[in-house]
Amino acid sequence: MLVVEDDDAIAAPLAAGLEREGFEVRRVATGTAALEADGVDVVLLDLGLPDIDGFEVCRRLRGRSDVPILVISARGEEIDRVVGLELGADDYLVKPFGFRELVARIRAVTRRTAPSAEPARPQQIGSLEIDRRTRRVRVAGVEVALTPKEFDLLACLAEEPGTVVTRQELLDEVWDPHWYGPSRTIDVHVASVRKKLGDPRWVETVRGVGFRLGALP
Ligand code: CA
Repeated sequence: MLVVEDDDAIAAPLAAGLEREGFEVRRVATGTAALEADGVDVVLLDLGLPDIDGFEVCRRLRGRSDVPILVISARGEEIDRVVGLELGADDYLVKPFGFRELVARIRAVTRRTAPSAEPARPQQIGSLEIDRRTRRVRVAGVEVALTPKEFDLLACLAEEPGTVVTRQELLDEVWDPHWYGPSRTIDVHVASVRKKLGDPRWVETVRGVGFRLGALP
């Protein structure tokens, strides 16, 4: 990930936090350096740069690659959002923003812009088959009709079968990061997925933490 930010007081903790999240971070402080960087998978771009305007950097980056660009800025006016997105930014975050929100947006942007990263073959977990490309689910060869949210929930749990996914992670991944609705929403969806899969053990509750995909034959 390329972090383009001239303010060291923002860039340093941001880079450290992103590294803790598992991202490999490269930091630059100017638009010129940003345009010279290559081999980058995601760009986090501050608009207020000392040399070239961030919008211009965004336009030039977009002109030559499909790299996901997340614009971060202190400017929050509607017009800037529109201009940023029209210049090819994939998302737009206004300072100050929460770190969790930033990470969720980065994940969303990289998912959205990299459909080819989805495995070509359906994932097989025992008798459960999840096809992320067609968004179809089968149990023992029989198709299960899930709603979009139910599918996202199951796909999220299936990313690492057997590993606990916390309620917060599910909210961040499956629901909008701005979601402040009742946390019961997750339970309602989990109950529905269990019912549709025909065996409640597919989705195990880890009390007080979250859920994990069960290991059924
Ligand atoms: Ca700046």
